[in-house]
Amino acid sequence: MLRYIGGSESEGHFALINEACSMFAHTNPLHLDVFQSVARFEAEVVAMTADLLGSKEKASGAQVCGNMTSGGTESILLAVKTSRDYMKMKKGITSPEMIIAESAHSAYDKAAQYFNIKLRRVPVNKEFQADVKAIRQHINRNTILIVGSAPGYPHGIIDPIEELGKLAYSYGICFHVDLCLGGFVLPFASKLGYPITSFDFTVMGVTSISVDVHKYGLAPKGTSVVLYRNHDIRKHQFVAVTEWSGGLYVSPTIAGSRPGGLIAGAWAAMMSLGQAGYLENTRKIMEVSKMIQKGIKEIPELFIIGKPDMTIVAFGSAVLDIFEVNDIISSKGWHLNALQRPNSIHICVTLQHVPVVDTFLQDLRDAVQTVKENPGPISGGLAPIYGAAGSMPDRGMVQELLVNYMDGTC
Ligand SMILES: *Cc1c(COP(=O)(O)O)cnc(C)c1O
Repeated sequence: MLRYIGGSESEGHFALINEACSMFAHTNPLHLDVFQSVARFEAEVVAMTADLLGSKEKASGAQVCGNMTSGGTESILLAVKTSRDYMKMKKGITSPEMIIAESAHSAYDKAAQYFNIKLRRVPVNKEFQADVKAIRQHINRNTILIVGSAPGYPHGIIDPIEELGKLAYSYGICFHVDLCLGGFVLPFASKLGYPITSFDFTVMGVTSISVDVHKYGLAPKGTSVVLYRNHDIRKHQFVAVTEWSGGLYVSPTIAGSRPGGLIAGAWAAMMSLGQAGYLENTRKIMEVSKMIQKGIKEIPELFIIGKPDMTIVAFGSAVLDIFEVNDIISSKGWHLNALQRPNSIHICVTLQHVPVVDTFLQDLRDAVQTVKENPGPISGGLAPIYGAAGSMPDRGMVQELLVNYMDGTC
């Protein structure tokens, strides 16, 4: 994944986080009694995150609880496993199924495979949102869980969370909101006056939420939070073992031993940025997102997919090969992600883009022009590494590539 912070402002931030990580690198929250400091950091990161996502509002029921995990995928895996076991207890479901939109993250496929759950993926509606009617049609007595993303990774569009919440509530099934990308942006964008529809525990029917601190929370990679509406649901996340020689063993997440350093790093990131820091960052990246949307709209060969709610802008073309456009802008150092159905690419706007938005739009206009003037495949980009006949990759080339990769991603 890309870096969410850039330029000189990143240096002090990274230094503080690196210090926090290294100070606690040898701690392990599995041993709560020995490492009380990291247990406290984790509890505070969870509480601060829950607070951002409506836990203190009356409507939420005010029992929100959760854990830190290694990333969005683990948060999702846990929410799915927990929902499965909760629904087994509540309704006796033993052949579980879940329903998600085509735009939901691939982590749900992983969860379905790991936990033996039948996955039903449903096409999105014309606005590229989860199609509530289509999801309703797939609900049956084995359904344990539906999912809404706020926003979805491909197009940056928020699903109709309130409607999905009502649906889940009326059928007595679980509803997970994927805030992996949006959790540290939407609460602030909303405060700034952007029209953001409801997405958190204040929505009736939401049973769990995943939110990545290591994306827009600007914490070190390997940090995310999974939250539940109440302890009754969350208790199904835990594994407690009494029947082995090691005595009572209780573990809340997928890992046994966990890196206390990363927990301390996430805590330091949140404490040092504070609500004011996230608000200011959100103001900047939302403005850049709007500028990019405006710039793309002014390029007649391109169209934007749906109405981006946040800082992910996906776009395609009816007249050009958008992946050729991507190859050219990639060669200029931009990092966009390729998407399908329809073919398109997206930019995930971060603080790194704030000072260079005009250059990006100029490079994009130039790339579109180049592809327009040279239809058909264009040589260059990344293709020759494996493809070119007669050119065996050598160690020098791989080393060079490693260095290139290091600059672009982190
Ligand atoms: C990034 C992301 C995930 C997965 O998170 P990882 O941290 O990469 O495991 C899940 N859902 C959404 C919407 C995401 O953006």
